[in-house]
Amino acid sequence: MTGACFCKAIKYEVLAESMMQGLCYCADCQTVGGSAYWASYAISPEHFRLTSGELKKYTSRSAAGRAVERHFCGDCGTQIKVQSNDVSVASVNAMTFDDPAHFRPQYTHFAQSAPHWCDVHPKLSPFQPPGE
Ligand SMILES: [Zn+2]
Ligand SMILES: [Zn+2]
Repeated sequence: MTGACFCKAIKYEVLAESMMQGLCYCADCQTVGGSAYWASYAISPEHFRLTSGELKKYTSRSAAGRAVERHFCGDCGTQIKVQSNDVSVASVNAMTFDDPAHFRPQYTHFAQSAPHWCDVHPKLSPFQPPGE
């Protein structure tokens, strides 16, 4: 599976099926993404491979105190993945897939911080993924 940032400077491939797919409504994902949630396609970090360009990185702390690296295109700003090396999980931005139909979310995360105007998808179950 392949994907790219908005300006196409960054291109990547994902070498394995996801461990989990879901929507993260945490405040950090909302601020970074400018959206109600982050479309998370979770894989093991070694299953992500850059095929073009170089990602910039910003590290912050999750509510649980883990180091969370956000990897993004330095030219157009598209966030490509969020990674916590403490738990060996990389969450790829499913909205950057060349074929977005590949994304099939199964869970919600931090749905309690969804904006009041956003209906949380009723078919998805709450889940606590590792890394956040
Ligand atoms: Zn870009
Ligand atoms: Zn989040």
